Amino acid sequence: MQKPYIFITRALPESVVRLYRDQLNIEMWPEEQEPVPRKVLLEKSAQADGLLTMLTDSIDQELLEQTNSLGIVSNLAVGYDNIDITVAKEKQIAVTNTPDVLTDTTADLTFGLLMAAARRIVEASEFVKKGEWGPWSPLLLAGSDIHHKTIGIVGMGRIGEAVAKRAIGFDMNILYHNRSRNKETEEKLEATFTEFHELIEQSDFIVSMVPLTSETRHMFDRATFQRMKEGAIFINASRGAVVDEQALYEALVNKEIAGAGLDVFEKEPIEADHPLLQLNQVVCLPHIGSATRETRIKMMELCLDNLCRFFSDEKLLTPVK
Ligand code: NAP
Repeated sequence: MQKPYIFITRALPESVVRLYRDQLNIEMWPEEQEPVPRKVLLEKSAQADGLLTMLTDSIDQELLEQTNSLGIVSNLAVGYDNIDITVAKEKQIAVTNTPDVLTDTTADLTFGLLMAAARRIVEASEFVKKGEWGPWSPLLLAGSDIHHKTIGIVGMGRIGEAVAKRAIGFDMNILYHNRSRNKETEEKLEATFTEFHELIEQSDFIVSMVPLTSETRHMFDRATFQRMKEGAIFINASRGAVVDEQALYEALVNKEIAGAGLDVFEKEPIEADHPLLQLNQVVCLPHIGSATRETRIKMMELCLDNLCRFFSDEKLLTPVK
């Protein structure tokens, strides 16, 4: 039998991919840094039986409707806001993602971002490297305490819970908000379910871990930032578009909130002259939540395992329902 033709939209390490070549006829876009051009992606997906995609690839209606034999899209991310799930379902194209394997890694980075923003770690490092370190002074680079403060997690799912576990180690008071209350989580993590606006008003640290959906797009808007405490620090490691960035910028410059830690942006890469990048009280990272070598390899293997299972009629490990 002919092996299914799989197009992988970015160069992945051959040491990982070669283990799957006896089951799958794999072609990879040869660049590691540069995304596959849209035209090539359209051509390849029109012929492919399976795609292994990155979050930078828009797997939209246009692409899905011009496919001929595509059976599965295996996305190298837990978020799948880059894929039109409705059209995929209509066309009976399976979609898989990479939950769980990246949970702890992303939670580590999220908590690191919180710590960096609270204790001004990046700003302080720049200060030393630029030779600005002069005499000791009592309030030099004084930040905010983390321990015993209140953390409000919006989106208490897999990663949200892992962030809460880290917060327990810092003796933090934990609030959370989801659409549905989760009693098991509350008992396990001593977390308190709170309505969105109450969480926003009561938290010292607000952490967004919600998926990007039509409901969550710009859920952190002008009115939301205005409700936050003056000393609040906002952390976003979910998706950029859950935040109205102009509203966040205004809240920061008007000192309505104290700082922010951002791993994700509405437009990635963010423009170098974006106003948010000019603010010392903002720590910015280039969407590296799950970026450790170990985790990225686990994510690749999970994507490839799902592809193999699909073509041998086995149960998918992590289907998007
Ligand atoms: P998850 O387990 O599905 O958790 C998502 C949580 O958000 C759920 O608890 C869900 O609870 C809640 N939620 C969904 N819609 C909501 C809404 N409208 N209002 C309030 N809460 C809502 O997903 P996860 O594995 O933790 O991943 C979360 C997100 O993190 C991903 O979707 C992805 O965008 C992002 N992420 C980013 C990185 C990075 O590199 N920065 C890495 C991994 C993941 P209910 O269903 O009860 O509302």
